[in-house]
Amino acid sequence: MPIGWLLYLHVTGNSVQHYSNLAQMNFDVSKEQSRFLQKVEAACKSIRDYEEKCYLEERLNDRIVPVFGKIGMLGCPISTKYGGLGYDMLTYALAIERIGEEGASLRTFFSAHTSIGQLVLQGWADEEQKKRHLPDTTSGKSAMAFALTEPAAGSDPASMTTRFERKGDIYVLKGKKHWIGNGTFAGVMTTFAKDAASGKISAFIIERHMSGLGSEEMKNKIGLLTVKNAEVYFDNCIVPKENLLGKEGQGLNIAYSALIDGRLSVAAGAVGIMKDCLNECAAHAKAREQHGSPLAKKQLIQEHIARIAVNIVSSRWLVYRAAAARQRLHEYVESIKQEEREWLSKLGRNNREYSALRNEADSLAAMAKFHATNCAFEAANRSVQVFGSFGYRKTARVARHFLDSRATTIYEGANEVLELKIASQVLGDGYRAY
Ligand SMILES: Cc1cc2nc3c(=O)[nH]c(=O)nc-3n(C[C@H](O)[C@H](O)[C@H](O)COP(=O)(O)OP(=O)(O)OC[C@H]3O[C@@H](n4cnc5c(N)ncnc54)[C@H](O)[C@@H]3O)c2cc1C
Repeated sequence: MPIGWLLYLHVTGNSVQHYSNLAQMNFDVSKEQSRFLQKVEAACKSIRDYEEKCYLEERLNDRIVPVFGKIGMLGCPISTKYGGLGYDMLTYALAIERIGEEGASLRTFFSAHTSIGQLVLQGWADEEQKKRHLPDTTSGKSAMAFALTEPAAGSDPASMTTRFERKGDIYVLKGKKHWIGNGTFAGVMTTFAKDAASGKISAFIIERHMSGLGSEEMKNKIGLLTVKNAEVYFDNCIVPKENLLGKEGQGLNIAYSALIDGRLSVAAGAVGIMKDCLNECAAHAKAREQHGSPLAKKQLIQEHIARIAVNIVSSRWLVYRAAAARQRLHEYVESIKQEEREWLSKLGRNNREYSALRNEADSLAAMAKFHATNCAFEAANRSVQVFGSFGYRKTARVARHFLDSRATTIYEGANEVLELKIASQVLGDGYRAY
């Protein structure tokens, strides 16, 4: 029995036959989606020089929203009902992979805006909340952010100290988050706080105008220089009860489901980083001569190139499978009637089919992120080596990939924690090492 089957036997129990059937997988995109991906290609090319300029000047790329808004990328996997394109997760992953070629800095905007931003609302918000917030974010009027991490609660969000108290029709939030992507300017963000009385964690939709909300840019980052990260403060921030996301106490469940999408986007972007590294390396190695012949003819340089090439293919396979699994989860949730969804939500969505689909998506996204980001950092490191001193300035694309890919093994679940998660999914919860 192949190892993948063994794993899913454990993860999905009786559903193994259904979910591990690779023959059912179709990674093709329609003609329409392929036309969209061509638009993404053109948008990426058009923004390339400006992205580099902003990177060297360490400032926010203010053309991301107009350039990508024009082609619908600001709402690629969001339903057309809310102004998005309504594309499936594979198409979205392919678009993110292409954007990733321009660097993890540019791609990070989309992860914060869509993957851990809009998709959280699409999956968990009620109809009123969706209508109120999603159209402005798909049109580009407002960006989104996801504020979970705190200075004392990173890999262990359950230990968060941000508190909320219910006072009649409002919630009052007090605490601080840090590293929040798009956090300096996002009009809408989801955040998480603990009930001061019960200790249970809930999720909230925060709007920029809310009283008691503050943010400050985090400076001196070593990479990702065209996106902004912020410390976000809730100083007795007043949140109307209508802005509770999901039910009280569902916060961690919502946060962990958001991280499936976050990991998928980081993994897809990591494939893009590797592709660009490979192109850059191959071109440089053919053009640069030392010891009387091109670097490309040296066997040790070819080793760098071969390793990157193999890692692109292995990472892609994981990313596309993870995207397909995430799409199946989305379609299952969408197939449930609104009344039944209410019921599912009261039970913490604790039904068997939902759990099996979610476990599969969660597990594959963790594997894809773990593998692809380790490979991307390795690819960037190898590429700087192939470039020699020419790769040691931020003007070189490979140098920027080196600096940016460093973050990808840390955020959306640091890779050590993901490794432990993957192992405990194989071994069973009794062997959880984190
Ligand atoms: C550029 C950037 C952007 C970010 N954007 C966002 C954002 O938009 N929103 C948001 O909420 N957060 C964001 N983060 C925060 C990010 O998710 C956290 O940094 C991440 O979860 C790790 O937490 P930490 O930094 O506190 O590290 P820690 O949790 O302190 O971990 C430090 C090290 O210890 C390891 N470790 C931790 N626990 C264990 C364990 N049990 N066993 C073995 N090893 C362990 C980790 O893997 C890591 O290597 C961002 C971070 C960065 C760097």
